[in-house]
Amino acid sequence: MERKIFEMEHDMFRDSVRKFVQQEVAPHVDRWHDAGIVDRELFRKAGEHGLCLMWADESYGGHGMSDFRFEQIIIEELVGHGDPGFGLTLHSRLVGPYLGQLGTPEQKERFLPGCVTGEVILGIGMSEPSAGSDVSGIRTRAEDKGDHFLLNGSKTYISNGINGDLFVIAARTVPDNPHGLGLFLVERGMEGFGRGRNLKKLGLKSQDTAELFFDNVKVPKKNVLGDPTKGFYYLMQFLAEERLIVAAGCVAHAEAALQTTIGYVTERRAFDRFVSDFQNTRFKLADMRTRIDVAQTFVDRLVMDHNEGQLSAEVAAEGKLFCSELEGWVTDECLQLHGGAGYMDDYPISRMYANARVSRIYAGSSEIMREIIARGIGLDPRQAAKAVEQRKRA
Ligand SMILES: Cc1cc2nc3c(=O)[nH]c(=O)nc-3n(C[C@H](O)[C@H](O)[C@H](O)COP(=O)(O)OP(=O)(O)OC[C@H]3O[C@@H](n4cnc5c(N)ncnc54)[C@H](O)[C@@H]3O)c2cc1C
Repeated sequence: MERKIFEMEHDMFRDSVRKFVQQEVAPHVDRWHDAGIVDRELFRKAGEHGLCLMWADESYGGHGMSDFRFEQIIIEELVGHGDPGFGLTLHSRLVGPYLGQLGTPEQKERFLPGCVTGEVILGIGMSEPSAGSDVSGIRTRAEDKGDHFLLNGSKTYISNGINGDLFVIAARTVPDNPHGLGLFLVERGMEGFGRGRNLKKLGLKSQDTAELFFDNVKVPKKNVLGDPTKGFYYLMQFLAEERLIVAAGCVAHAEAALQTTIGYVTERRAFDRFVSDFQNTRFKLADMRTRIDVAQTFVDRLVMDHNEGQLSAEVAAEGKLFCSELEGWVTDECLQLHGGAGYMDDYPISRMYANARVSRIYAGSSEIMREIIARGIGLDPRQAAKAVEQRKRA
C-alpha cells in the first residue's frame, strides 16, 4: 500500500541513508553479530553522515530537524538493509532528547556536540535486577552530599552498555516515595563506575547489552538532569516516543520478513510445485500483507501525531503492542514457510525470528502496554480501590 506521509525531501533522505547503510553497515553485519557489538567507529561515521541527533540545534552541530519521519526512515533502512542491532536511534532519539529537553545550557554545550558527531555514545539505565516493568521498584540510590550525589547500585540489560560513554541513570533520591527518582548523567571513567560483561542474548546479537555498576560514584551536581525528585515523571514523559520507535522498527521488520519469505517460497519446490502455489502459503502471506499495511498506516499516523506533539501514552502503547505482536506472528509464520531452512543461520529469517522476540518485552512488555491501554479506557483497579476507600471514609 502506498504510504502518504513522505515528501520529496524524505525520499531523498531515504536514498542517502540507504547508501550509507549499504556501504557502512551491511558488509560488517556478520562480523558484528559474532563479536556481539558494532565497531564504535560506526557511530562516528553516522555522525559524519549527519545521522546522529538530527533534532539538535545547529549551534551544537545538529540540523534542528525534529520531524520524526527522518528518524523513522533511519529505523526502516537499518532494519531493511543493515542491522537492527545498531543502537543509533537509541542514541539519537531515545536518550538524546533527555539532554535536549531537560539539560541546562551548560550540559547541552558540554555533551551535545560530541553526541552529534558520534564520538560520545549514549545509553539509558532504568532496569535493574529487581526492577524492570516496575520502575517505581528502582533500588539504585543517589544521596545528596552537598556538591555531588553519591550513587550506589546497579543496572542490567543496558543497550549500548559496552560502547556507551554517557548514561542517563535513574536512581532513588527520596527513600520513602516510590516515585522519588532523579536522573543522573554518568560518564565513562567516573571513579566507581564499572560495567559487567557483554550479555549473551537470543537475538539482536550485534547490540551490546550490559550490566552497569555504581560503587560510591560521585556525580557532580552539574550532571543532574532536571529536578532530582522528578525523574519518574520525566521517564514516563519520554516513554511514549520510545514506544513509537519500537513500533516503527517492528513494522519494518515484519515487512522485511514478508519480502524475504516471498522470495523463498517462489523458488522453493515441494510436491512438484512452488511452495507459493499452495493455498495455505498464499493465504498466510495475504493475511500478513493486510495486517502489515494496517499496522504501517497506524504507525504513520502516530508519527504525524507525534510531530504535532499529540502522541498520547495510551496510543503509543497501542502502537507498540500491536506492532510487536504482529512482528512476532509474522516472523514465526515466515520461518514456518521456510521449513528446515528457516531454522538455519544461513537464512535471514532465522535471525529475524530471534531478533523479533525482544520487541514484546523491552520498552515495556505487551502486558504493561495492555495495562496502560486498559487504564486509558477507565479500567484502573488502583483508582477503583481508592474510590471504594473514599466512599467508606465519607
Ligand atoms: C535486549 C534488551 C535490551 C534492553 N535495553 C534496555 C536499556 O537500554 N535500558 C533499560 O533501562 N532497560 C533495558 N532493557 C530492559 C527492559 O526494558 C526490561 O527487560 C523490560 O522492561 C521488562 O522488565 P523485566 O525484564 O524486569 O521483566 P519483569 O518486570 O520481571 O516481567 C516479567 C513478566 O511479568 C510480566 N509483568 C510484569 N508486571 C506486570 C503487570 N503489572 N501485569 C501483568 N504482567 C506483568 C511482564 O510482562 C513479563 O512477562 C532491555 C532488555 C532487553 C532484553
